[in-house]
Parts: sequence; C-alpha cells; structure tokens
Amino acid sequence: MSLLNLFRNINPYVKPYKGLVFLTLFLTLIGALTAQVNAWVLRYTVDQIAFLLEQHKLLKEGLSIMATISIILVTKEIVNSLLVFGQKYYGEKLRIYVARDLAQTVIEKVLTYRLAFFTSNGNQPGKLQTRIDRGIESLTRLVQNFFIDILPLFANSIVALIMMFNANFYVGLVGLCIIPIYFYLSIRQANRMSGSRRNIKDLREVKSHGILNILESITVIKSFIREDLETEKQLTLQNDLTDTQMKVRKLSFLYDGLKNFTEQIGIVIIIILTAYLVLTGQMTIGAIMFHIMLFNNVSAPIRQLHRIYDQMNDALIYSESFFDILKADHETEPSGTYKPEKIAGKFEVKNVNFTYPGNKERTLFNINMEVLPGKSTALVGLSGAGKSTVINLLDKFYQPDSGEILLDGVSLKRYDTTFLRDNIGLVLQKNHIFNGTIEENIRYGNPHASLEEVMNAAKKSYIHEQIMNLPNKYQTSALTLSGGQQQKIAIARMFLKNPPIIFLDEPTASLDAISTEQIKNSLDAIKKDRTVITISHSISQIIDSDCIYVMKNGYIVESGTHEQIYHLDGTYKEIFDAMARSLNIDKISKTFE
Ligand code: ATP
Repeated sequence: MSLLNLFRNINPYVKPYKGLVFLTLFLTLIGALTAQVNAWVLRYTVDQIAFLLEQHKLLKEGLSIMATISIILVTKEIVNSLLVFGQKYYGEKLRIYVARDLAQTVIEKVLTYRLAFFTSNGNQPGKLQTRIDRGIESLTRLVQNFFIDILPLFANSIVALIMMFNANFYVGLVGLCIIPIYFYLSIRQANRMSGSRRNIKDLREVKSHGILNILESITVIKSFIREDLETEKQLTLQNDLTDTQMKVRKLSFLYDGLKNFTEQIGIVIIIILTAYLVLTGQMTIGAIMFHIMLFNNVSAPIRQLHRIYDQMNDALIYSESFFDILKADHETEPSGTYKPEKIAGKFEVKNVNFTYPGNKERTLFNINMEVLPGKSTALVGLSGAGKSTVINLLDKFYQPDSGEILLDGVSLKRYDTTFLRDNIGLVLQKNHIFNGTIEENIRYGNPHASLEEVMNAAKKSYIHEQIMNLPNKYQTSALTLSGGQQQKIAIARMFLKNPPIIFLDEPTASLDAISTEQIKNSLDAIKKDRTVITISHSISQIIDSDCIYVMKNGYIVESGTHEQIYHLDGTYKEIFDAMARSLNIDKISKTFE
C-alpha cells in the first residue's frame, strides 16, 4: 500500500473530526512561529551585551535588556505551554476517537463475513486479533503523530529555514543542503528495514496464534507432559523474532550514526561560515548563536524523520492487512431477499457437490436428499463422512460448488440469510457456551425473552433444578458448568428460540444416560410439525427416525427407514452392528431376561 492510498483509506475515519484537525493545524502554525523566538532573543541579547561591553557600560545599563528578554521569554513559554497542551490534547483526542471508530467498524464488518473467512489460514483467532490490534494501533499512532509530531516539527523547520535565508543566503543554503542528505539516508534506512519489519509482523502474528493455542490446549499439553515441546516451539519462534529485531536495531543504529555525523558537519560549516561573516564585518557576533539555533530548528525535525518514517512504514505494513480485513467485501455473507411469511421446512438437496474453501479435496459428492417437515431425519456415518458439512450447507454457512438446495421449493440462495437463520435452531457438539452467566447464555436464543421463559426452556432441557442448586443460580458463569451441563444449556437456548427447523449435531454426545433419555423425550415432544435433522452416533437417536441417510466418504450411500436400510446389508448394517456390539447387546439382553 502506498502512502497516498493509506491516507485515502484513513480519510473517512478522520473526516468526521475536521474541526479537531483544523484546530490542531492552527495551533501548529502558531507554535512554529513561537519556536523561533529563542533564536531571536539570543541574537538580540548577545548583540546588546557585546555593544554594552564595547561602550564599557556596566550591569546597571544592562538591567533593562535583562528585564525585556525575561518578559519576552516567560510570555513565550506561557504561550508555548498552552499551545503544546492544546496540540497534545486535541491530537490525542483525535487518536482516541479514530481508534474507537476503526475498532467498531472492523468488528461490525468482520461479523458480516461468511464462515469461510474465519477458517482461512491468515484469519485464525490469534492472527486475526493481532492484525486488527496492530492495525488500529499503528494507524491511529500515525494520525496522532502526523498532527502532534510531523506537522509541528516540519512547520518549525520551514519557518527556521526561511529565517536562515533571510539572515544570509549562504547560511540558508547550508541548512537547505543538509535536508536532502538526511532525507536520502532516512529513506534508505527505512527501505532496508522494511523487509525485516514485515517479517517481525508475520512472526508476531504466529506467536500470538501459538500462545492462544497453548492456552486452549493446556489440559492436553499437561496430560501428555509436552510442556518441553511447546516451550521449544515458542523458543524457536522467539529466537527468530529476536534475530530479526536485532537486525533492525543494528541497521537503525548505523544510520543514526551517519545522520548524526551529517548534522554535526552542518553545524561546523555554519559556525565557520558565520564566524567568517562576523570577522569580515558583515554580521554582528549575535549571529553565531542565532544561526546555530536556527539550524537546530531545521535539523531537529529532520532528525525525527526516520522515527516518523518507521511509524509510517509500520502503519503501511500493518494497515495493509488491516484494510484487507476491512475491505474483504467478497467475504460478506451472501444473502437473498426472500422472506416468506411462514417456513414449512421442506428441504430438497439436488446433486450437490461441495469443497471447503482452501481445500483441494472435495468433501461432498452428488448429494441428493429430501427432508420433510413433521418427520425426523437422521444423518449417520463414520467420522469425517461429511454429516456436519451437510448441515453447514443447509444453514447457508457455505455455498455448494454445484447442484441446488431448495427450501419449500425456493432456492436457499434466494433466502434472506438473517431470516433463514432466525428460523433455524442449531445445537452443536462443542463451542456453544459464551463467557457469561447461565441466564445470558440461554437468553442468546431469544434476547427479548423474560426470565420465566428462560427458566421454562431450562426446565425442558432438564437443567433447571441443577441451576437452582448452584449458589448463584442463573447468575452463575456458564463456563464453570460441566460439558454435559453446557450441552443442556445449548439445548435450552434452542428451546427458547423455538424455530421451525432444528439441526442437532450429536446433541447428547456429552450427556449421561438419564439426561440423554430426558432430552430425547423433550426433543421428541418439540419435533412435531418441525423439520428436525439429527446427526448421531447413538442407536437410540437414530433408530426411530422417519428417514435415515447414511454417508460414507462424502457420498450418501443408503437412505430409508431403519428396517429398510438394515436389510440392504451395506454400510448402515455395518455401522449399526458395530454400535450394537459395542453396547454388548447380548449381555444387556441377558440382564433383562
Ligand atoms: P464427525 O462425525 O466426526 O463430526 P462428520 O461426518 O460430521 O464427522 P465433517 O465435519 O462434515 O464430518 O467433515 C467432513 C470432512 O470435511 C473432513 O475431512 C474434514 O476434515 C473436512 N472439513 C470439515 N470442516 C472443514 C473446514 N472448515 N475447512 C476445511 N475442511 C473441513
């Protein structure tokens, strides 16, 4: 991204604060003028004192000069303090406001993106977070520095340069010659460092992702005593990061030295030139200090050039990936406009093929299904067969590569996505609990529900009594609940939502036998007049289904009722017999004899 593009991109976020920008610019201009006062005063003082000494006058005569310069300098400092305060305060205000707007916009935007965006390689949780945080930080720092550092410094520099030329053309020329050398060195420095900076950015993203992974998998790490392995992985990363950082620092110190040398040469030339002008009677002695101070005013901002350049480079690097996130409009969830008054819930899947974005291998092949409302449908198959993927397509999380999915005779593509999801209840195997209280977690199913309705939903999923036994009841943190209890919370949420279409992905996987039976009864009760698709590895969930689809390696290989497909002697029989054997049915039936 070029600097021009960067400013073009950030412009809409700065525009609403035009007033603040103009105020800061105005203060900057005044600040640039007051910054030159010291040089003037010093020249005046030296010349006046030199004159008094020439006249052999003593302290008495000098008092009025001292009083004058004291008044001027104190007044200037008071004005300057107010100006600096105003500049910093309004600059900071601008930064904070822009940071807030950027953060809010990126969250709003990211929430509209389709699921594939979040599973793609650059957007895994830690990486995405680093890209967003660093992007906002570097962009807002750039905005702030532009108004607090860059503008005032360069305004100072230009005013000082004009004054140097005004004092003497050759003195001004020395000041002017130093600038391109400084620019050249700073730009070379920045260019040589930009590759390493990009590396640092990538390594930081990987590091955050790694730390997040450790935290998420801490139980596994500890149980397999793989702390050393994880430490080793982090160490390699850390070493790479340190090496790159050191490389950047080394280059930085080298160029700083060169720039410092250039500046000192400039000062030496100014001193010699001015001394010559004073000795040849073209100037008064006060000009020596005057010129050095002006030169300092010219070189001080340029000394900051590489820092500002660094920040701009940081902003360019991080903003590139930040604006990539913000502008990923192609990732926006596709949506139609169709919103029927009522959804009956008949799904027809016709010749659907599907490949996950970024995957080479196809996941679903020529899927044909009919799911009827009022009937229960089960998806059965070995792990990885593609059952959850079918649900993902029916929920419009992903689009098929080819083929068509119809709901009540209308293509799913034409449906308004928000409306569609509002009519679907999805209970997942895992990751369904948010950081919040039990009440908040259940209410997620219907934000407008009363506490009584929340409790009724909890009763239907047989968790109410357990909640009431907790010290903080419905205000207990849901994350402290057991896996099975959390699953019941997710089911309660679905009951509260009360949608006409229900997808259950192994809804009772973490439940004990009694809870499974209770939940099964509750689910059976609400299944009436709804479309229900259940993915399950449990006989009890499957056997009563009106229609069972059996999946293998991404294909539907059998379909029908339990009785129909069992006698096909195919995959279903294989799976079913294995399930029965794993339950040790022989021994169970002997127990009941
Ligand atoms: P299980 O019973 O274990 O839940 P499943 O039948 O539901 O398995 P799916 O989750 O549909 O299987 O996965 C089918 C295939 O798709 C697997 O090979 C899996 O690796 C792949 N897959 C699933 N989700 C994604 C994703 N987000 N990105 C890429 N590939 C995926």
